[in-house]
Amino acid sequence: MATESERSSDGRKRILVVDDHEDNVEVLRARLEARGYDVQGANDGVSALKTTRSWIPDLVLLDVMMPDMDGMEVVRRLKADKTLPFIPVIMQTALDSTERMVAGLEAGADDYVTKPINFAELEARVRSLLRIKKLQEDLAERERELSEMNDKLMHISLTDGLTGVDNRRSLEQRLHEMFEHSLRLHEPVACVMCDIDHFKKVNDTYGHAAGDEVLKEFAAILKREAREIDRVGRYGGEEFLLLLPGTVLDAAVTFAERLRESVDSHTFSYEGGTITRTMSCGVAAWPHPRVKGRDDLLKAADDALYVAKELGRNRVVRFDSIEFNAHTGAETDGNAGTTEAGDRHTGEWPGGTRVGAEGAA
Ligand code: GH3
Ligand code: MG
Ligand code: MG
Repeated sequence: MATESERSSDGRKRILVVDDHEDNVEVLRARLEARGYDVQGANDGVSALKTTRSWIPDLVLLDVMMPDMDGMEVVRRLKADKTLPFIPVIMQTALDSTERMVAGLEAGADDYVTKPINFAELEARVRSLLRIKKLQEDLAERERELSEMNDKLMHISLTDGLTGVDNRRSLEQRLHEMFEHSLRLHEPVACVMCDIDHFKKVNDTYGHAAGDEVLKEFAAILKREAREIDRVGRYGGEEFLLLLPGTVLDAAVTFAERLRESVDSHTFSYEGGTITRTMSCGVAAWPHPRVKGRDDLLKAADDALYVAKELGRNRVVRFDSIEFNAHTGAETDGNAGTTEAGDRHTGEWPGGTRVGAEGAA
């Protein structure tokens, strides 16, 4: 018996003829084969279902009256099998049996013919159902293409075209989700806002294309350093945002410092030439008395980035550090710390959860 993978490539449509009388099968087989169909026979319900699953016919011609499993049960099972494509079923009923015909259609049959079979009529019904099957298949194919296109569009609408990381819209969605999740589960969440130092000089000195290349490589460094669950995105021109779920401020600062070192020691290459660049980072995290919502969190990171620039660039500033407070006039609230070793912020969540520096490993 041929399997689906051995499906004949000659384009002949497959018809499974099911009848407990072998003679009936043979008569129909001869007629249908003469019309160019590829025909298989089955003499009972169980082998009909078995052949349907392995050979996948394009149509089933099914006798109602059979011992053991009758045609009603076969069509019911066949139509209930979600692994099968749409396979039209034509029931064969006795001429005087309107009741059976109705029951067959109710059970899921697509059409019926009465015995003795008028072959011209059968052939017309077969052709009509195969046409419907073709329409169904075309429709399913369109749906598949449409859904694929939709996924692609969705991806494009959330991705930065130049660097391939999340775009601002995607970052905002993700931050919203992460913040809701953190509130619900009382888990910390941190963000790091990064900006390339004196990036404009790259454009001015080497040209816009070189600038683009640096942006791409820069995004790749961030992506490489981040964990799978972190989100990396381009927030603006040469400003990137990292969202770190389950990460306390200390751990986020350690992570940002590692990023800063990676960029500092990296040599960007462009058309044989090399460029070096540093970056500044602002780091903020929730929970914190000053952070009431996700907008506060973003603003805190952005303010800290501003302070890092003001203090001379190529550095990481945490939003509750002494230098940050001194610079912005923010009040200390007992959480003040610096970016130096020996941070005093322990990352203790009020509920008792503690996430160590490995949170950003
Ligand atoms: P700072 O250290 O203060 O951040 O200085 P900067 O020069 O990096 O910042 P500034 O905001 O003055 O300049 C940013 C530059 O980034 C200006 C803009 O033309 C450039 N830029 C923004 N988007 C792109 C881009 O997609 N490609 C390239 N090549 N340049 C870009
Ligand atoms: Mg910059
Ligand atoms: Mg900038």
